[in-house]
Amino acid sequence: LDIEPMVLSQFIMDSLTLIRPQAELKHIDIKHTLNEESIINGDPNRVMQVFYNILDNALKYSPERTSISIHSYEKDGKAVVKIKDHGIGIPGDSLSQIGERFYRSDLSRQRNTGGYGLGLSIAKEIMHKHKGSFSIESEEGKGTTVYLTFPLLEL
Ligand code: ATP
Ligand code: MG
Repeated sequence: LDIEPMVLSQFIMDSLTLIRPQAELKHIDIKHTLNEESIINGDPNRVMQVFYNILDNALKYSPERTSISIHSYEKDGKAVVKIKDHGIGIPGDSLSQIGERFYRSDLSRQRNTGGYGLGLSIAKEIMHKHKGSFSIESEEGKGTTVYLTFPLLEL
């Protein structure tokens, strides 16, 4: 890792710029409310890859004309990023396996969405290397919420 102090909101905005064309294709609106003060120690390229992989899923597994929201805030000395979609969701019995290498739920395999089942395993590994955490909540047919936490930079 190539660690440096990073203003988290800037990286979230950069990843939005990167993914916006994909969102426009599906007419999906991405809303954001970001804490602009949070500074973390991170590898910018890797952190960007985490956001990109999660947003790519949120878009891929959501119907057209739905919305995605990104909220960042500080809690218990950590920066939290919450990414919520209103897509197909993940069946309860496969939730525990999500993020294992090559694992894709039946719902996503049925829909010819394509993919190798690697995006989240990579994201989890990057979060682990940043001493952060990754968790996912989902309800089939309703949507999915991913929570990322990063330790805040101590000045
Ligand atoms: P890729 O390697 O291209 O990312 P993938 O999207 O299938 O392929 P992951 O990103 O690792 O792989 O996600 C694993 C599985 O988790 C997906 O196949 C899908 O079943 C489920 N999943 C992940 N994010 C979402 C989401 N936002 N909504 C619904 N299902 C999701
Ligand atoms: Mg993916």
